[in-house]
Amino acid sequence: MGRYFLGLLLFLVSMFPSTGTLGQRTSFKVVAFYSTKVEPDHVLFAEDALKFFSGLSARNNFTFDSTSNWDDMNEFNLGKYQVVVWLNDEPPKAGQRLAFQKYIENGGAWLGFHVAAYNDKDSNWPWFVDFLGGGVFHINSWPPLPAKLTIDDPSHPATKNLPGSFISPDNEWYIWKPSPRLNKGVRVLVTLDPANYPIGFKDVLTSGDLPVVWTNTKYRMLYMNMGHGDKIFASPIQNKLIEDAMLWLGPTGGKKSSANNGISTQAEKPAATGTRISPHAVVVNSKTNKVYAVNSSEGTVTVMDGSANFTTTVRVGLKSTWETQRVARCL
Ligand code: ZN
Repeated sequence: MGRYFLGLLLFLVSMFPSTGTLGQRTSFKVVAFYSTKVEPDHVLFAEDALKFFSGLSARNNFTFDSTSNWDDMNEFNLGKYQVVVWLNDEPPKAGQRLAFQKYIENGGAWLGFHVAAYNDKDSNWPWFVDFLGGGVFHINSWPPLPAKLTIDDPSHPATKNLPGSFISPDNEWYIWKPSPRLNKGVRVLVTLDPANYPIGFKDVLTSGDLPVVWTNTKYRMLYMNMGHGDKIFASPIQNKLIEDAMLWLGPTGGKKSSANNGISTQAEKPAATGTRISPHAVVVNSKTNKVYAVNSSEGTVTVMDGSANFTTTVRVGLKSTWETQRVARCL
């Protein structure tokens, strides 16, 4: 490769100060649903959660959107996101529920908090009960109190950075019946330590298996019982659990071969045959001595041929499918 090409290559690389920025491009998109006309403590949690996830998205380079309009739970809108979060409610309408079910069955991911998973004999949504792992809301503690939680499964990506136990801030604790632990497809990650019993003053829980965080391995999902009041994000340890759960559910971390249902992820793309010298902008094919530099704002790829001493720029937008495919093959 001549000096001209090396110079041009360096120039093109300099156009992307962001090998970093490009490398930190959005890796996945999250949308949180919440309601504002529910129990005030559940609204407080949602407000705190929106701030928490906004900060988290900035640090971890994912996109975080939120809506209190449950009509946004439709196939078109959900198709834009890899993770759907329910902060304090669930979709009330049949069409919204069906859109969510389709989204999940096509490989979408769900992170649910506290009352978002509430269901009882009047909920009339058997698919959702199965999705949760079979548990129906049974009883709760009151008032909100802190509790010692133990980690059942420290090997899971959501819990691997946690100590063996920690004190979870004030929360209203739910017992589900049957316990999700009895479902062989459910992986319980965090449990309320029985040493907390009795817990509550008005409503007292005295015994019983109380899984707090679990995933139904049939789906890309994770449920957390936390979500009542304005203290939930007061524990850095618990915040780490929430962060790691989200990053696990994101498409690069949470993919499961059995439930991915054809959703493509970065990790599943065929390996590049050239030498990738920046995550997205410039690729070298050492066999052909060609360098490909992507300019995403212009929708072009500049091809530098080190053997034949020429450069050419091709447009790779939608209007030029053939060129896109050709360049993709080269890459
Ligand atoms: Zn509550």
